[in-house]
Amino acid sequence: MTPREVFSGAKLALLDQDGTLFLGGKALPGARDFVSALRERGISPVFLSNNTSRSLRRTLERLNALGFDAAPDEVRDAGWATRAFLVRERIRRIALFANEEVTADFSEAGFELDWENPEAVVLAYDTSFTFGKLVLAQSLLMRGVRFIATHPDRLCPTENGFVPDIASLIAALRSAGTPEPLVIGKPSPTMVLPILQERGVLPDECVMVGDRLYTDIRMAEESGLRSLLVLTGEADRAALADSPWKPDAVAENLVGLL
Ligand SMILES: [Mg+2]
Repeated sequence: MTPREVFSGAKLALLDQDGTLFLGGKALPGARDFVSALRERGISPVFLSNNTSRSLRRTLERLNALGFDAAPDEVRDAGWATRAFLVRERIRRIALFANEEVTADFSEAGFELDWENPEAVVLAYDTSFTFGKLVLAQSLLMRGVRFIATHPDRLCPTENGFVPDIASLIAALRSAGTPEPLVIGKPSPTMVLPILQERGVLPDECVMVGDRLYTDIRMAEESGLRSLLVLTGEADRAALADSPWKPDAVAENLVGLL
């Protein structure tokens, strides 16, 4: 399929951010025009992020500082998808390991923090994680409390290169004997389902646009979405040839795509 064909009949576009819309703190060529072109065609953009070290509001501010003109309900991160999952599972009391601003997102959504008798241990990308938190989370998990992690990423791109992501925190707990967490963010379909439900859109009316084969394109394939791979970030043609997950279309970049 051509990139244009991938969007025919689409109502929703899920957009990866880093490596797709921007890189190193700068919007990528054609990215802003691409988002405007989606809107003109009646395709709603949703800006996705696995990063749960910052609040939804801060992710929105970052996007808008780069000129993407996003509305609050167009930004959906793995923390938001985790909250949707917890609501579906009727879990309200959680032991949450997260930065302050992310904790505020959960509190505002009605979750109660409980360090003694929680219904689940929820691990976010807590960049204020300490040995004391490790001890507390481990003791709850060894008592059999359910373990949920917001996303699986190993590395997080920053202006100073890649830094350890949540996988290092999960590994610290796992090596202390805890069970595997249930993981919510990309590439899991649990990231996509609540967005489709919220918008009343079917999987085949939705296109995932991203630069990573093993997260963005894999999630699309496993969720029944169409997908467009852009080669402005992590994946190149060699990685695509080796990948078990294949996009419906590939583009060098977002310039003049629609
Ligand atoms: Mg990316």
